[in-house]
Amino acid sequence: MIQFADNSKDAAKSPTGKTRQFDVVIVGGGVVGMATAMAITANYRGSVAVIEAESHLAAHQTGNNSGVIHSGLYYKPGSLKARLCAEGREALYRFAAENGVAHERCGKIVVAIDEAELPALTELERRGTANGIQGLRRLSIAELREHEPPSPVWRDSMLPKPASSIIASSPVVTQNM
Ligand SMILES: Cc1cc2nc3c(=O)[nH]c(=O)nc-3n(C[C@H](O)[C@H](O)[C@H](O)COP(=O)(O)OP(=O)(O)OC[C@H]3O[C@@H](n4cnc5c(N)ncnc54)[C@H](O)[C@@H]3O)c2cc1C
Repeated sequence: MIQFADNSKDAAKSPTGKTRQFDVVIVGGGVVGMATAMAITANYRGSVAVIEAESHLAAHQTGNNSGVIHSGLYYKPGSLKARLCAEGREALYRFAAENGVAHERCGKIVVAIDEAELPALTELERRGTANGIQGLRRLSIAELREHEPPSPVWRDSMLPKPASSIIASSPVVTQNM
């Protein structure tokens, strides 16, 4: 791990005090920094360094998040977020398979907890369908009980499956080092 040994903005110093220069320096060893480094090094022959303030990668959000691979259910159809979510999801599945990162395509259940939330649920269903989420469908209360323990707040529900998944998030950045 390369760390700033002092406040110099011109060069990175290793913990041994030796100064090195790099063609590209990326600050932050979370998923964004490491994905950027991976993309750059795939087609670039110059030297690349990732500078991380902590003693290990994925020390903050990346290593402490919920590990959900989002389906793209919530995003406005046709928006950049919707497109990038779908592309990123598939890219992450490929990365996980190629690098042996544990993940599970378990799906997700979205529940309306009262009558007032039913229009929002219908809108999510419309967006999910427009965003091309496979396996999205309404569940009856009886079907819901097969997946989840009974809850007094159930009114209606739907299940986008298998687009939503869970993943071991720290290994996404540490597995490919
Ligand atoms: C509670 C929570 C749950 C989440 N759940 C999910 C989820 O289920 N699914 C999902 O897709 N997203 C989730 N997210 C969002 C996701 O975790 C973040 O969008 C993502 O991890 C951001 O990555 P990052 O690399 O930008 O930031 P980080 O992972 O925070 O990495 C930034 C890195 O930069 C380093 N750094 C900062 N300043 C410097 C400096 N000056 N010099 C050197 N290093 C520095 C930090 O030490 C850190 O390691 C969640 C976020 C939170 C907070």
